[in-house]
Amino acid sequence: MNRKDRRRQSKMGTPPAAPAGAPIPGGFGAGDAFAFLAGARPAPQPPVPVVARPKTSAPPPSTTPSDKSPYRALFVATHNAILDALRVSRNPDAVAGAVAKGAALSDAKWAEVRPAVEARKQPGFACGAGCAWCCHQQVALEPVEAIAIARHVDTRFTPDEQAAVRRRIDALAARTKGMNNLAWSRLKTPCAFLVDNKCSIYEVRPLRCRAVFSRDAEHCRWAMENPDEYFDHRERRLGSGPYPIEPRHIIDAALTGFAVAERDFGLPWKTLTLMAAVKILLDQPDAAERYLAGEPVFAPALLPEDEDTAPVGLAPASPTLAKPGDSH
Ligand code: SF4
Repeated sequence: MNRKDRRRQSKMGTPPAAPAGAPIPGGFGAGDAFAFLAGARPAPQPPVPVVARPKTSAPPPSTTPSDKSPYRALFVATHNAILDALRVSRNPDAVAGAVAKGAALSDAKWAEVRPAVEARKQPGFACGAGCAWCCHQQVALEPVEAIAIARHVDTRFTPDEQAAVRRRIDALAARTKGMNNLAWSRLKTPCAFLVDNKCSIYEVRPLRCRAVFSRDAEHCRWAMENPDEYFDHRERRLGSGPYPIEPRHIIDAALTGFAVAERDFGLPWKTLTLMAAVKILLDQPDAAERYLAGEPVFAPALLPEDEDTAPVGLAPASPTLAKPGDSH
């Protein structure tokens, strides 16, 4: 932040405090990749202190004395990235830039730990371009992520690409309205952003999409083709299959940073569904600005609460408490 920005921030004052007793997103760490991608919501967690933004431009402490998480620094960085953007201006482009920064930090953290995780067990990861079994289900995301994706579509897609993706989003959003994860998966329908088996918004894809790594593409295919068996299997097994948990803990930390920043700035921060949220932004050109002014524009896109398909095996506590060795 430069001097001018700091002056502006100082004039704007500090952001509104969170309501007393408000639940804080406590983490999304899942023992199951599909559940995680679909936006498993953690049980309400006791409030945890939000790291205060220092008045100077010095970086905040990466950890607190009581926090042993290897991902605490990522949480702090993504939290501050969004807060910095919001303090300077409630501008969708600034928010999209902050989301990109959070995604880059998350990718970098995963790149750092990936070699050890991949080598821990054989085979290595099967994921690669053209393999998209995990792109046939509901995806959840934070409001700021939806804004970044919609900006990308607006500015980077050609008019023909925009028209095509809007048709796919409209059709899929109408077909999946109010559906829970299992009902969505039963459709066996690709995400509206999947084109030729590749993600057409790869650069700005939701953070949860960045967390799915599999050692067994056949398992992913089976899960996509047999959603009922898969959901039942997951309920009984309580395990994570071929999916390592570290990338999910990383993304969990980043998403928690996003959500806490939204909440700290007085914005609605509940998790949304990808199709419905992006549809709102594409249909209503001022939706992003209205959200950033505090309007609940994403209410129709809220992730449905669904205890029946709530994933089992979610880490009950903050991912910051994840223990080494609970991975696959
Ligand atoms: S956004 Fe991209 S990576 Fe995520 S489910 Fe859709 S196509 Fe797949």
